[in-house]
Amino acid sequence: MRVPPFTLHTPTSIEEAMDTAGTLQADGKEFDWIAGGTDLLPNYKWHLNTQNDVISLASIKEMKTLTATHIGAMVKLHDLVEDTNSHPLLRQTAGSVASVLIRRQATVGGNICLDTRCFWFNQSEEWRRSIEWCHKCDCDTGADCRVIPNQNTLCVATYQADLAPALMCLDASIHLISPAGQRSMPLNEFFELDGMKRNVLVDGEIVSHLTLPDDAADWDGKYEKLCLRESWDFPEAGVAVSWKGAGNELQGLRIATTGCESIPVFHQEQAEDALENWQGKDSIKALGQAIRKEVKPVNNTYFPPAYRRKMLPVLVKRAISPLFEE
Ligand SMILES: Cc1cc2nc3c(=O)[nH]c(=O)nc-3n(C[C@H](O)[C@H](O)[C@H](O)COP(=O)(O)OP(=O)(O)OC[C@H]3O[C@@H](n4cnc5c(N)ncnc54)[C@H](O)[C@@H]3O)c2cc1C
Ligand code: SF4
Repeated sequence: MRVPPFTLHTPTSIEEAMDTAGTLQADGKEFDWIAGGTDLLPNYKWHLNTQNDVISLASIKEMKTLTATHIGAMVKLHDLVEDTNSHPLLRQTAGSVASVLIRRQATVGGNICLDTRCFWFNQSEEWRRSIEWCHKCDCDTGADCRVIPNQNTLCVATYQADLAPALMCLDASIHLISPAGQRSMPLNEFFELDGMKRNVLVDGEIVSHLTLPDDAADWDGKYEKLCLRESWDFPEAGVAVSWKGAGNELQGLRIATTGCESIPVFHQEQAEDALENWQGKDSIKALGQAIRKEVKPVNNTYFPPAYRRKMLPVLVKRAISPLFEE
């Protein structure tokens, strides 16, 4: 399988990237951004929604800044893991992505903007032709969704990136830049419940960086993921939990999931309920069941949805366990 040919543009500043995007748009050309390419290029090899023009963000130095509270979109996952100033929850979560080799190439922005996945879609072109395509890459046939047919507007492919729930639990904000200007929002408002649109980014817009609030260091946390093999595999379900305080003296609790739906989900209501009625270890089971009830996976990844849901209380329990360690 070969990557189809495309023209690679290599701007060295955000301003130049915006100019390049603007010029391509003015010429009526569609394009993709590429960061580390560990997801985009495998998709291109499978001829999944390829473009003739690709703009690389790899030479833009201003997107590589990493401090305790500022994470450039072009920061490599490996650097996030290795940097002792980074929040421990982010270091642990980034360290659970794929393998060292991939993490040395993969970026934070690429992880946040990761394409959604589905076993009807992440296949070779020949395989997809044999099932007469699907809605997300329909090759102008108007093919239906194979997972939930007869609705043909929505794609329910699964968001399977690890970092987003951990960043949500640290109350991260995401910062976007387009030729029209800049905007920022809490990370949990960035994602859109459609496996094709995925997030709020408009044509020509990029994620420039993420920021954490100053009090992020006061929060502890842990990420737990269910996957086929311990390294290398995408999360079939992932749970991040963060907390402020300890044991029975809990002052703050946050919880978010990934790998269960088309978007990562920040479970504010369930965390607030648990905190209000907090009775130490006795509250964990109820919290796990509340998350299981809220999340609705579909049948398009390796493990069946019922098993992924069943594992959520287990992942919640594992993720929250350090709260009770002396
Ligand atoms: C074998 C294998 C195992 C993997 N396992 C995991 C895993 O366990 N967990 C996991 O989370 N991921 C996994 N991945 C997916 C991927 O490697 C990571 O998610 C990685 O962080 C993607 O980053 P990248 O820089 O390579 O993204 P790219 O491939 O460059 O881009 C991914 C997408 O994001 C867009 N994009 C990139 N940067 C920006 C930006 N700044 N602004 C706007 N759009 C942008 C691109 O256009 C593209 O659509 C795996 C990949 C492979 C090949
Ligand atoms: S969820 Fe449906 S439309 Fe989306 S990739 Fe899977 S089969 Fe295609």
